[in-house]
Amino acid sequence: MKGIILLGPPGAGKGTQAKRISSEFGIPQISTGDMLREAVRDRTPMGLMAKGFMDSGDLVPDNVVVGIVKDRLSAADCNTGFILDGFPRTIPQAEALQTATFELGKQIDIVISLDVDQKELMTRLCGRRTCNKCGSMYHVTFNPSRVEGKCDQCGGALIQRDDDREETIQARLVNYKKSTEPLVMFYGNSGKLKSVMASGSIDAITAEISGLIRSV
Ligand code: AMP
Repeated sequence: MKGIILLGPPGAGKGTQAKRISSEFGIPQISTGDMLREAVRDRTPMGLMAKGFMDSGDLVPDNVVVGIVKDRLSAADCNTGFILDGFPRTIPQAEALQTATFELGKQIDIVISLDVDQKELMTRLCGRRTCNKCGSMYHVTFNPSRVEGKCDQCGGALIQRDDDREETIQARLVNYKKSTEPLVMFYGNSGKLKSVMASGSIDAITAEISGLIRSV
């Protein structure tokens, strides 16, 4: 059983790396961002409530995301492990996760912090394109799809996420500093935190993360 958290600012590559680790280790990727976007697309009550926060780059209230993560973690496919991507994002979420994993007889084995220079984050997020079908991520310059506008994996259309626009990105980065960065200290104190410099080749970063996971 490997319980993994990927921590890092928007644009650090959490989604990209979580997908790769998920398939390498055969464990589910739990992305609160993906789950919330799906709820928005399906116009569920939760999606309708979350949309306003997401569009303005704010965090969705803790009780909402904690609820969806608790449900997801109790599914049978999480018994062999899981990789959390984009959760927790606040100290209360991290505390709720501790309680939930304890109650479910699960644990967090390693927290990997992806570190990227602030200026690079802006460039990455502005050029990011996401498949509207399978969620695969590309970058117009650094990681383009083979056919422009089409996903290499599933042929879906590549779109710019509503919150990957410059004004919203600023708000997301400010919220990261204020609410999420304190988690580095939180998990640093628990002795489970490892940092990875997440600039450069995507493959090399995956290899480093994978090595860290194998070592616990
Ligand atoms: P992401 O795809 O992880 O960048 O998340 C996109 C948006 O979903 C964020 O900007 C938040 O509005 C919302 N969101 C995702 N995960 C969380 C979380 N753990 N706590 C609060 N809001 C979240």
